[in-house]
Amino acid sequence: MLVVMNAQATQEQIQAVCNHIEQMGFRAHPLPGAQRTAIGITGNPGEIDRGNFEDLAGVADVIRVSKPYKLASRDVKEEDTIIRFPGTDATIGGRNLAIVAGPCSIESREQAFAIAEQVAAAGAQFFRGGAYKPRTSPYAFQGLGVEALRIMAEIRDHFGLRIITEAIDNETLELVAEWADVIQIGARNMQNFSLLKHAGRLRKPVLLKRGMSATLDEFLMAAEYIMSEGNYEVILCERGVRTFADHTRNTLDLSIVPSVQKLSHLPILVDPSHGTGKRDKVLPMARAAVAVGAHGVLVEVHHQPDKALSDGAQSIYPAQFAEMMDEIERIAPVVHRTLPRGIHVETAVAGVHDGKRK
Ligand code: PEP
Ligand code: MN
Repeated sequence: MLVVMNAQATQEQIQAVCNHIEQMGFRAHPLPGAQRTAIGITGNPGEIDRGNFEDLAGVADVIRVSKPYKLASRDVKEEDTIIRFPGTDATIGGRNLAIVAGPCSIESREQAFAIAEQVAAAGAQFFRGGAYKPRTSPYAFQGLGVEALRIMAEIRDHFGLRIITEAIDNETLELVAEWADVIQIGARNMQNFSLLKHAGRLRKPVLLKRGMSATLDEFLMAAEYIMSEGNYEVILCERGVRTFADHTRNTLDLSIVPSVQKLSHLPILVDPSHGTGKRDKVLPMARAAVAVGAHGVLVEVHHQPDKALSDGAQSIYPAQFAEMMDEIERIAPVVHRTLPRGIHVETAVAGVHDGKRK
């Protein structure tokens, strides 16, 4: 159920409708749009009588949402969601492409800084790096943990780059939320509903990667889990799915981009690194991701990939990253997007909104 407020509705009228919904024992989700605010209702076991809302001041319409995902759906919010990073000009969603780059794992301060310096110089706005790694083998490198979070916070202070890193369980979620700008939930956890609900109770953007065999509906329902708890800043990320094809690690399913965009207002990025598993396939698929209309790309970059502790074979060299940026900058205007090069940070507020500092 969705209560659509009219364009002139005041904050008080919106609040009064939310209070009314909460008094009925349901949850109200006000989602402001460019034209009007819509209020999603969740927690109702069956249909609610429209008459409950029709006479309230400022209400334009009451609509039944037929899709299983409601808050993620375009029915609730017509225009694309744009996620902002206070104190900077960086955004995810909308017209500007968001580029996330960095190593699979943070291996040392030297390694992380060497890579950050080069991706920042090429114009990335977001730096990624695993602190907690979900590895197939328990004997493989599991990540540096809090030490890696500290290194990434230093990178934010030094280069201005906003930080994205993965939480693998409820315990690491708290830590990641404290230190990072965006919490990544990995493919293997896309249907970890307890983790999704916990992330939904935080007020930090969440980058949700598609499960390796998740359908479009399952992907959007996972986003809905986060949103249903009140966190509406969800970024989707296509990272390839399991198929019979064995020339690549996964099969990058680019057609999910326009499919998601038809149904949902949430931003969607593409990860051609995990999507192919092969360095020489990353640039062509990054170009294709921008051409298909993704809101940005996430790529693994390493200055010494042959020495990487994880995912070296799919990590591109910094020079290839710079080449990728030049190429997608030229493709972007064809699909009505632009590639911002570099991040501007207001020094007065830098770090204030960004979780813990050094
Ligand atoms: C990663 O981004 O390093 C990662 C582990 O990704 P995924 O969850 O898509 O496998
Ligand atoms: Mn990786």
